[in-house]
Amino acid sequence: MQNLHKTRVEVSARALGHNIKGFKSILGGAKMMAVVKSNAYGHGLAETAKIADKNGVAWFGVDNVDEGLALRKAGIKKPILVLGYTLNSRLRNCVDNSLSFMAYNQETVKALRSLKLKPLGVHPSKTAKAAYVHLKIETGTTRQGVAGKQLLDLAKSLLKVPGVVIEGASTHYANIEDTTDSSYAELQLKRYQENLDNLIRIGIDPPWKHTACSAAAILYPETYFNLARVGIAMYGLWPSKETQAVAKREKRLIDLEPVLTWKTVIAQIKSVKKNTPVSYGLTEKVSRDAKLAVLPIGYWDGYDRRGLSQVGQVLVRGHRCKVVGRICMNMCVIDVTEVPQARVEDEVVLLGKQGKDRISAEDLAAKIGTINYEVVTRINPTLPRIVV
Ligand SMILES: *Cc1c(COP(=O)(O)O)cnc(C)c1O
Repeated sequence: MQNLHKTRVEVSARALGHNIKGFKSILGGAKMMAVVKSNAYGHGLAETAKIADKNGVAWFGVDNVDEGLALRKAGIKKPILVLGYTLNSRLRNCVDNSLSFMAYNQETVKALRSLKLKPLGVHPSKTAKAAYVHLKIETGTTRQGVAGKQLLDLAKSLLKVPGVVIEGASTHYANIEDTTDSSYAELQLKRYQENLDNLIRIGIDPPWKHTACSAAAILYPETYFNLARVGIAMYGLWPSKETQAVAKREKRLIDLEPVLTWKTVIAQIKSVKKNTPVSYGLTEKVSRDAKLAVLPIGYWDGYDRRGLSQVGQVLVRGHRCKVVGRICMNMCVIDVTEVPQARVEDEVVLLGKQGKDRISAEDLAAKIGTINYEVVTRINPTLPRIVV
């Protein structure tokens, strides 16, 4: 097929399917929520969701209402949960498009009341419009959520609002990826269970109970309840080195295959003499007579200027080539002296596999001083995502 995009992100439907199958098999009876927030961790929201849908995930998790609406527009009919903050002005959109959302503020209750929804009755029809709410329980992450009396008060006041359904109760772990020690996660799980028991005691038993992210889903079956929210690992990336180490130690081996490849092409090739300065600021001079290739990608694309200028590596014809000088807005320069066969419009892999070598999200993360999550989510969302 002719390549019409000088820079593109390829998404492997096979690898994504493989990872989802792996999770479905370890989750047993619990369902899987495909977390596709942040443009599906850079993989392309609609493209990824459609593949995940075909592979039988039960739920989708997004950050905001607009992402939820985009999924509905893409034809996703399954339940969608908005995980991040929902403005009170967008609750109407949630009701009209069956987007479930998180609640932890009394202000939300007030806003829901002002929607004046119809009461659902004892046996609500499946098509009845309702506000589907998931309670967010604060268990120690000290982020979104409420606990104790505040949680019970919130649940009670939500139930008094016509058209509101308490569909779920969830929490999120603070220290599950960054450690090989599960004690804080266990404490959070215990607090979640206590709060859940309190809710059940006052007659509120939310049908969907969920606490697990990728790391928990890989390591701790006791966190599953009946739904696991899987993000990073669905894309074939390990949540952390620690998670990988514990998985190995506990023999909880799941085979993860990276889904994304970020590619560009060579735009120009030129030969330069030793000591020629390259790119803005003349920050680097070639140390020998060299052959350079200009790439049509830069920091606008999400190729980090601070972390990758002079040190980034890309693959050309299966060889690692180093970035020379500064990354510009839409361009950068690499050294292809060791790849004499390199030609204009040759494929260049920025992230992913080419030949026998692979530039991993972790390689880039180490250079930039961040985590693989940030590397993939910051790939410019306007670049085309091509399912392969
Ligand atoms: C992003 C997110 C997840 C997914 O986390 P991963 O580590 O990527 O699996 C799960 N739950 C919530 C609330 C999130 O915000």
